[in-house]
Amino acid sequence: MKEKMLVLGIAEPYVSTKYEIAVCVAGITIHGEFRRIYSIPLRDYYRNPFKKFQYIQYDVLGKGSDFRPESRKIDVRSIEPLQFSSVSSIAQKIQETKSFSLEYLHERTRRSLGIVQPRIEDFQIEYRDYPRTAKYSRLRTGRTTMNILPFWVRFDFCCRARCPHHWVMCEDMEIGNYYRRLLNRMHGRETPRKVEKRMKDFLDETTPYFLMGTHRRYKNVWLIISIINPQGKHFY
Ligand SMILES: [Zn+2]
Repeated sequence: MKEKMLVLGIAEPYVSTKYEIAVCVAGITIHGEFRRIYSIPLRDYYRNPFKKFQYIQYDVLGKGSDFRPESRKIDVRSIEPLQFSSVSSIAQKIQETKSFSLEYLHERTRRSLGIVQPRIEDFQIEYRDYPRTAKYSRLRTGRTTMNILPFWVRFDFCCRARCPHHWVMCEDMEIGNYYRRLLNRMHGRETPRKVEKRMKDFLDETTPYFLMGTHRRYKNVWLIISIINPQGKHFY
């Protein structure tokens, strides 16, 4: 079955034993359903890339083994990148699908994807153990290699008026792509600082929404899959 969706987030790649390095893509179908498609090997993604706010079409193979209700296994070779969405259509999709709060998403629905409007209190670039990470700083499986981030990005935010605060990890691949682009131009430890600076500027320019999704293994753990700038602007 063919399906068309507006891509709202691509998460930082992870190592999947079966598909080597894979990316996870989430968005909203043209019928208004949240969707997560998997597993897209990084090498296939690089061969046939697409971006946030772009429509894509693909063949759905079925539900697959992922327990999360919005997940679909797809035929990777069938992916067709289509046009970019207009700003008004991004805004409309957000208005139609956003949740009242993360608590509501978590406790009252069985969903594993959703959009919230955060009041961002803080964000932090948290260094991983650098000497140890340096050894594993490149993911190499099969024929694909990729530099992984030497830091985590976390946001402190409130999702509604009386929210007790959330301190959540952000996996938006646009942050990783920005970091990797910097790495190609310069070396050394100043790159995470530059990412931090870019994030500050980005947050000053926009009032973003968060596309939230549950962890692929831990169903009660929510992550920020994507920072959505409703004007359709990208992080990098
Ligand atoms: Zn909250």
